[in-house]
Amino acid sequence: MAIAHAPQEQPCIRCGDCAAVCPEQLQPQRLLLHLRDERWAQAEHEGLQDCTACGRCDAVCPSIIPLSQHFRQAKAQIAETATRRTRALAARERYRSRQARLSRNEEAREERIVTQTANAASADAVAAAIARAQAKRAARTHPPKA
Ligand code: SF4
Ligand code: SF4
Repeated sequence: MAIAHAPQEQPCIRCGDCAAVCPEQLQPQRLLLHLRDERWAQAEHEGLQDCTACGRCDAVCPSIIPLSQHFRQAKAQIAETATRRTRALAARERYRSRQARLSRNEEAREERIVTQTANAASADAVAAAIARAQAKRAARTHPPKA
């Protein structure tokens, strides 16, 4: 997202006139250099966000560089990138939450199956024990004839 050259603008001659008139005590020529080289963080560190786009630097620039327009555009791009990053983080968080929920559901399902299997097994064991006891009782009551 490099800052493009405006058609009419000439190279900066580093006269410093822009810095002399900036009410925010910014160094517009330095900000411009950072933006041209895509050093966005450095431009912000040196006060890009404090630029009010008043246009005083534009008015005195002998190289007809639309500085305030470049700064406005850079701020908009930085804000857009931050919004995209926030959205991407939120989407990643939603994905993680969904995966965790699916994993919890799967664990709960497996636990239910284990419990049901254990209950069924113990019911079978109880039924078998009752059957054995009934068989013994029947054998005592009606012993087999010799
Ligand atoms: S447009 Fe920004 S950099 Fe230029 S003089 Fe105004 S505040 Fe300073
Ligand atoms: S006024 Fe224009 S030419 Fe002079 S330093 Fe600032 S940006 Fe460069």
